Amino acid sequence: MNKLNRLNFSGGPGALPESVLQQAQEAIIEVPGMGLSVLGISHRSDWFAAVISELEANIRTLLGLPNDYHVLLLQGGATQQFSMLPMTLLRGKAHPADYLHTGYWSGKSLPEARREGPVHLAWSGEAGGFRRLPSDDELSFSAQAPYLHYVSNETVEGLQFHRVLGRDDVPRICDMSSDFLSRPCAAERFSFIYAHAQKNIGPAGVTVILIRDELLKEAPTDLPGFLDYRMQIEAHSNYNTPPVFAIYVVLLVTRWLLNEIGGVVQMGAINRSKAELLYHLLDDSDGFYRGRAEAQDRSLMNVAFNLDSPERESQFLAEAQAAGFSGLAGHRAIGGLRASIYNALTLSAVEELAGFMDDFRRRQAAC
Ligand SMILES: *Cc1c(COP(=O)(O)O)cnc(C)c1O
Repeated sequence: MNKLNRLNFSGGPGALPESVLQQAQEAIIEVPGMGLSVLGISHRSDWFAAVISELEANIRTLLGLPNDYHVLLLQGGATQQFSMLPMTLLRGKAHPADYLHTGYWSGKSLPEARREGPVHLAWSGEAGGFRRLPSDDELSFSAQAPYLHYVSNETVEGLQFHRVLGRDDVPRICDMSSDFLSRPCAAERFSFIYAHAQKNIGPAGVTVILIRDELLKEAPTDLPGFLDYRMQIEAHSNYNTPPVFAIYVVLLVTRWLLNEIGGVVQMGAINRSKAELLYHLLDDSDGFYRGRAEAQDRSLMNVAFNLDSPERESQFLAEAQAAGFSGLAGHRAIGGLRASIYNALTLSAVEELAGFMDDFRRRQAAC
């Protein structure tokens, strides 16, 4: 694989496994056994129906998903879910839904929900600059809430919940866009999980949604068809022309997870070793590298950190780029530096980054 792809630490779209890129390249010319380009195969073909059903089965296997869940593949990204969810579950409700404001992306979900119905802000990390997540004793959730919404991994700030939140008698809804299939997630404890593909499991253009059947029993029937989960379920994610290529690549990623990695438990262990390597390096740098998040809430996917000045951060980025690393600039909303170490980033790529960071620190200390 070329070095730039292997050392792509971008926050999103993220890197994809080399074997997946090779199969995707091949499929653009001809899908094995089909004689047609994946870009020109009908979404009404038997081949595509088989892609959808294998992808759905792979996700069920990877997460041990119970049978009363639907697996949906929709367009519009995670952002469309910020609206589609409250349209379906919050319109006309008297009791507010519980929302957590833990960073940039959960912040984007709030105004969209407020447009549709009452929202109760159960916790906000804004005053603290989103450097930590709430502990259980800071949280109290309403038994009357139509649902609880939170983001499992705040991609921008590098904060990740390492436990499941909320009450068992209120539907849990989670945006797992940046940590889906990166570790086991106790899917059966959530009524609704959504994750766009482009951070961890594929290219942009498709969002995976897991919905427990029961959640939709009182859903309105007057929504536009495209925005009606029940119509999408009935159409097997083929309501209108779906992004066939993006869905095919997500299928290839799930095959890679099952056959090359061995599942989400194994993926989680690999991801933990990658993150520990970088966090140890930050912690052992005598304050040269400053981790953004408090230790207990650090993300295993996005390692956000700073240097002592913006000038030194620019120098870091320039030297990293010259050494073949890409995507290390922090999100434009907060700046700083961020190494995103999604599933496709190998331990050896992370070791190379750690080597570069160690070397950069020593060279800065010497001058
Ligand atoms: C990137 C990101 C989003 C935005 O997703 P789009 O597909 O661009 O709409 C939402 N939530 C999280 C957690 C993200 O990381």
